[in-house]
Amino acid sequence: MKRALNFNAGPAALPEAVLAKAEKDMMNYRGIGMGVMELSHRSKEFEEINDHTKNLLRNLLTIPDEYEILFLQGGASLQFSMVPMNLLEEGSTASYVLTGTWSEKALKEAQKVGNAVVAASSKNANYRSIPNTSEIYIPAESSYLHITTNNTIYGTQWHSIPERLQVPLIADMSSDILSRPINISSYGLIYAGAQKNLGLSGVTVVIIHKDLLNSSKPSLPSMLNYQVHAASKSLYNTPPTLSIYFLMLVLQWAEELGGVKKLEQLNKQKAALLYDAIDSSGGFYTGHSEEKSRSLMNVTFTLDNDLLTSAFIHEAEESGFIGLAGHRSVGGCRASIYNAVPLEHVEKLADFINRFRSRN
Ligand code: PMP
Repeated sequence: MKRALNFNAGPAALPEAVLAKAEKDMMNYRGIGMGVMELSHRSKEFEEINDHTKNLLRNLLTIPDEYEILFLQGGASLQFSMVPMNLLEEGSTASYVLTGTWSEKALKEAQKVGNAVVAASSKNANYRSIPNTSEIYIPAESSYLHITTNNTIYGTQWHSIPERLQVPLIADMSSDILSRPINISSYGLIYAGAQKNLGLSGVTVVIIHKDLLNSSKPSLPSMLNYQVHAASKSLYNTPPTLSIYFLMLVLQWAEELGGVKKLEQLNKQKAALLYDAIDSSGGFYTGHSEEKSRSLMNVTFTLDNDLLTSAFIHEAEESGFIGLAGHRSVGGCRASIYNAVPLEHVEKLADFINRFRSRN
């Protein structure tokens, strides 16, 4: 079977080795005569999957013991609400850096919960860049500062984060978790939907400093309370067992490949191929983001006019490339090159980008 050249923004490409392994476990997991998704979430087999997945993530991202790892549902979008519901103290403010659509949405949800303000924004520059850390203004009575480390739609990424803050740093890492080494201790809480770099939709990873768990008020609905999920090892209710199993496989694959340092090296190599093709096109293609803020995960670019853009996407599809249309709010093109997108697929795309330019 020929695999598609999949550049979808999420759900996105999965490692072929993961799919091959999962295929076997669908019918008969470890010889017990049932598929992995037929296991009870209270069985010892699933508990092993749950525990092993957490340990793999802890090792790969070097997550210190002071942090709890939670597997939740509701996507990153529910975290837009859960973060302020649990962490925004009464009479206090939540500060948000706006770097794109997802951080705008996060702010909007926080404003439904309490007082939330913009600490910095690159909206006026059409979100082409990440604000300098010196531009961030955090009111003294803030409960936390929220950032979106990679902006899936605009194709920008934070390459250095605000350090030594007086307040916990909260990060939406949905589209770049596991793509590079990070210093977990710089953050109070990290959240990420799994469907880009971690596996399937359905599970959302939350990494939270244990001190912050004390902020959750008992009056919160249980399903929205971090403390409740932490106390029950993310088994308060039926978890998304299949998504957690896939997360385990993806993490095993990442570990076997050489971990996050190796992934970062590959991601840099892949992104360079595409940005070089754009930069050397003599203006035929224009990158959306400023060079210093370019994302290694989502490469966004435009062509001169709509006709040329449609022709590019159409011809790309005919050649087997999937998912290259830009997000409807930005237009143009976007190639999402998460961890699981093979280098060879990106080489083929760079080649296509060059050939399309020569022809047109
Ligand atoms: N944050 C970012 C950075 C995203 O890219 C996305 C999804 N594309 C979301 C949040 C929303 O995630 P979900 O659909 O899992 O709620």
